[in-house]
Amino acid sequence: MLLWEIDRPLFELAQLYGFERAARCYRASHHAAQGLLSLVAQHGIACEMRPRLSLYLAIDDSRKLVQDEYALRRRADLPSLYLDHAALLRRFGIRRAGALLSADAADADPVLLTHGLLDISVRRGARLLKDNAVAFDSAAQSVIVGLESGLSIEARHAVLATGYVVPDIVKLKARPASSWAIATRRQPSHLWPEQALIWEASRNYHYGRTTADGRIILGGEDDHALIEPEARNHATPTKVAALKDYLKTLWPQASDRVDFAWSGAFDTTHDGLPLIGAVPGCKNIFAAFGYGGNGITFSFLAAELLAALLAGGSSPLLDDLAIDRDIPG
Ligand SMILES: Cc1cc2nc3c(=O)[nH]c(=O)nc-3n(C[C@H](O)[C@H](O)[C@H](O)COP(=O)(O)OP(=O)(O)OC[C@H]3O[C@@H](n4cnc5c(N)ncnc54)[C@H](O)[C@@H]3O)c2cc1C
Repeated sequence: MLLWEIDRPLFELAQLYGFERAARCYRASHHAAQGLLSLVAQHGIACEMRPRLSLYLAIDDSRKLVQDEYALRRRADLPSLYLDHAALLRRFGIRRAGALLSADAADADPVLLTHGLLDISVRRGARLLKDNAVAFDSAAQSVIVGLESGLSIEARHAVLATGYVVPDIVKLKARPASSWAIATRRQPSHLWPEQALIWEASRNYHYGRTTADGRIILGGEDDHALIEPEARNHATPTKVAALKDYLKTLWPQASDRVDFAWSGAFDTTHDGLPLIGAVPGCKNIFAAFGYGGNGITFSFLAAELLAALLAGGSSPLLDDLAIDRDIPG
């Protein structure tokens, strides 16, 4: 799901940082989602990318949260509309107290997208090595990255893009969780209207999308207590059953026959924003850590900001997203 909406709603981000900074982060995320769509179109990357609407659903009695969010999004000039219960039911057949309907989202196959981008990099001269970076030395003018195989790479700059496995040189307090997802059988005639991306106004939200070949992918059921892969796998049948129950309440018309189920590590920052910029205390080493449910969208932002930074530029976003920023709470 390529959403510009961030895991933390705009009104919560505004409580943390004030409206201007929160709106800047949201607009940057919107710009990144649009940028990724254009990049894919420009290079003709075959990754099943489809522009989509997104639905941010109220849960239980949380209509007020969605309405508050709507008011701030309007103020920030973001492309969202408020749908009340009746409008949501009429257009999408979904029964909730209300929802925000937003333009400018997309979905895509993330593996095809990644391979497409790597192919372009290789054609432009990048070399891919299958190895593990285990040591980083930036005391001299250049950065030396020691690899597990015994080789080392010397470069003017290094950018860490290691996902949730953050090297020790980056001092971060992680709070890892596990997350589960299912993909149903193909059911092209039982998909919800307009195949919008669906997620919820809640910290531990469920999310759902359809695929180009007519499946429904649903995810969520995050768990902070089950981190070890073995415990995670053990819990999968229970989590799959919970996701199937969720599908029945969200979209009872669908078949709940599951063709694929999987789980993975997940992590997010307290403010829902990525960590992008210089690694404190490590000259010439930078990081692009997407984090949260928008990691792919944020990767575009990271590429733009780090390219500008390495070329001597600056942006207030580099302060907003700095690795050592002060995150209240
Ligand atoms: C269940 C789930 C659902 C998600 N859904 C979405 C979504 O719908 N939309 C969205 O935008 N984002 C989503 N995300 C987040 C998104 O997947 C991540 O933010 C994104 O994959 C980050 O990309 P990355 O390339 O930075 O890191 P990764 O994809 O994690 O890749 C990092 C790579 O670095 C390698 N690595 C780590 N350490 C080293 C080392 N020392 N040396 C060499 N290599 C190393 C790892 O093996 C890995 O291959 C989801 C995440 C999860 C877990």
